[in-house]
Amino acid sequence: MRIITNPQVFQKTMEALREKGKQIGFVPTMGALHHGHLELMRRSKQENDVTAVSIFVNPTQFGPKEDFRRYPRPAARDQKLLIQAEVDFLLMPSVAAMYPAGTALFVDLNSEQDGLTQRYCGQTRPGHFRGVLTVCAKLFNIARPHRVYMGAKDYQQTVVIDRLIRELHLGIKMVRVPTVRESDGLALSSRNIYLSPADRRRARALSQTLQELQGELQRGKRNLKALLQDARRKLAHSVDKLDYLEAADPVTLEPLAKPQKHMVLLTACTVGKTRLIDNVIINLP
Ligand code: AMP
Repeated sequence: MRIITNPQVFQKTMEALREKGKQIGFVPTMGALHHGHLELMRRSKQENDVTAVSIFVNPTQFGPKEDFRRYPRPAARDQKLLIQAEVDFLLMPSVAAMYPAGTALFVDLNSEQDGLTQRYCGQTRPGHFRGVLTVCAKLFNIARPHRVYMGAKDYQQTVVIDRLIRELHLGIKMVRVPTVRESDGLALSSRNIYLSPADRRRARALSQTLQELQGELQRGKRNLKALLQDARRKLAHSVDKLDYLEAADPVTLEPLAKPQKHMVLLTACTVGKTRLIDNVIINLP
């Protein structure tokens, strides 16, 4: 695996490979890699000639009171995992290299025309998606891959990035990879290491609640409002703070008042000091 810190060098390297006709798969991450990340790389390796990963803890997507400083950065361990996964290239840029003019430029969706970045995680984390959009616009322009691999775990993020790719005519295919979970259902996340053993047990409530709701909808229950309210009440009991539990259209993320054939259930909660998110995609018969 070749490690590159300079975005321009990385860009030239990818360009040369593209000119040789190689298909490039790109996996943007913030490091502290786990099996969820590795699954994205496995998919990319299956579908491309070259797989490139980036590790960059992006400051602009963290709020002032969030965990940017203490976010885990186990560089040596990550590199070992990437070598084992037979990843070809790793981009590890500095903040200065990614933001040469500081925060002079942002890429954002117009919230008046598109509520997408204001809802759900956007409401609890103002500016978060602006940071995500900005860093992905930069990373995608540096890598110019054929395909980019993103986890369904961050469902809203995949919808936001879909818009970015379309609006900027990037011509990249975004592959949404199903969420990888622990055996008890908890979605893998770099932030799970913050959980104390007791909080780790309580964190199961997110996936359990979503699964129960999914079961009820699949068994034909139709009173979505009451189902959600009941589930919210139970979930709020297990966690320290329930941010949201909603049913939404999987394409627009508009909240739903009634069940429909294709839906996504989305939740975010704080357990201890850790904010966790999860979702489940539902396809009714
Ligand atoms: P992060 O390093 O948290 O920014 O995540 C990098 C990528 O890995 C994002 O596209 C995430 O959605 C994806 N990812 C994180 N956790 C999981 C998981 N449990 N299963 C699948 N993909 C994941």
